[in-house]
Amino acid sequence: MKYFSLNNNSKDVGFIEAIERGLAPDRGLYFPKEIPQLSNHFFKNIKRYTDSEIAFRVIHPFIGNDIPKNILKEIIKKTLKFNFPIVNVSKNIASLELFHGPTLAFKDVGARFMANCLSYSNKIKNKKITILVATSGDTGGAVANGFFKLKNIDVVILFPKKKVSVIQEYQLTTLGKNITALEVEGSFDDCQNFVKNAFIDPDLQQKINLTSANSINVGRWLAQMFYYFSAYRDLPKTDKKVVISVPSGNFGNICAGLVSKKMGLPINHFIASTNSNDTIPRYLNSGEYKPKKSKQTISNAMDVSDPSNFIRIQKLFNNDLFGLKKSVSAYSYSDKQTEKAIREIYKLKNYIIDPHGAIGYLGLNDFINSKTDPENFQGLFLETAHPIKFSKTIENIINQKIQIPKEIKNILKKKKMSIPIKDYNQLKSFLIAK
Ligand SMILES: *Cc1c(COP(=O)(O)O)cnc(C)c1O
Repeated sequence: MKYFSLNNNSKDVGFIEAIERGLAPDRGLYFPKEIPQLSNHFFKNIKRYTDSEIAFRVIHPFIGNDIPKNILKEIIKKTLKFNFPIVNVSKNIASLELFHGPTLAFKDVGARFMANCLSYSNKIKNKKITILVATSGDTGGAVANGFFKLKNIDVVILFPKKKVSVIQEYQLTTLGKNITALEVEGSFDDCQNFVKNAFIDPDLQQKINLTSANSINVGRWLAQMFYYFSAYRDLPKTDKKVVISVPSGNFGNICAGLVSKKMGLPINHFIASTNSNDTIPRYLNSGEYKPKKSKQTISNAMDVSDPSNFIRIQKLFNNDLFGLKKSVSAYSYSDKQTEKAIREIYKLKNYIIDPHGAIGYLGLNDFINSKTDPENFQGLFLETAHPIKFSKTIENIINQKIQIPKEIKNILKKKKMSIPIKDYNQLKSFLIAK
């Protein structure tokens, strides 16, 4: 498979080069030259396949000869060491729990897959690289964990001091070995600016191999298809229309779902559910794309007003808004509505959802209830993070302590290690001295 830049001003590259580069030289996002189609045979037999077998069949056409089949199978096995259970919430609404990975958020899937692909290409080229990422919380943990102990790869994570949750900070700072956390005296935007500066600094480019691991990387993006297929396999056989609601920020996750549908996965409709950063719901209504300044909410991993993956969704629908609206609806919710949904589901079903999943639930509920025949729909919403990651917010809403999962208990006993950073020059000296 070849990938082209959506800015149309760079040469086409294979899968490995696309993940090594992250962005094309013309700063465009990479996009596959074609969307492969899966056979009827595959869908007929899907109930017999394991998660790994499904993932291999889904991703192999996107990789082609860039990774040998047996190695790709190993990479998938190392990626998928946890399940994606479906939990019924009401008669036609269920939660797809994507938080059973090591850092308790769905980003583990993409980060682990990308890390292992990169580790393979590094091994054959025998070069040393440094992954540099800025994080507002979830990304840093997933990336650190995915790359932990991989040979020839160092990971440097910048996080804003006192602006990530307690658990997130432990996840970033307790690994050690090839992972270094830099605690930045400033905001997430400062962290991101330092990273951007590093990538265009000619001095650094000469001295070290820097790579990014953010969510627009095709290695992270495409691996997110895996759980859509596994979820379809796990749904009881039904004549109802299956619809999926995705709590969305940068729109990478939902875009992977839409690629799955293009490959033949029989999902009737997708719902993009956002917090009050509502650029896409407004765009689908008005046809005008007008991002505002991003607002802070309790579903903070989705505080994005100009989603970087939306351009991929537009490409998938050939920039046809009418066609897009036939497959995708979008809704936006306030913090108040999010809190109310968390409280209600806890009261009625004794099920605790996190603020991101709650927004997914709200969009799904509104979509199904807008139909004249809601009984003909089966809905899934993606529960993208474990509620414990937002325990303070949630415990206040439901008036109840959340049990700490055992993976986290161990982390909380470890020693936090980080290096304080005040400005770009300190970051640069650190990277050169490594
Ligand atoms: C990153 C994240 C999202 C948003 O996913 P996108 O692919 O950026 O749309 C939703 N929920 C959680 C918990 C996240 O960490």
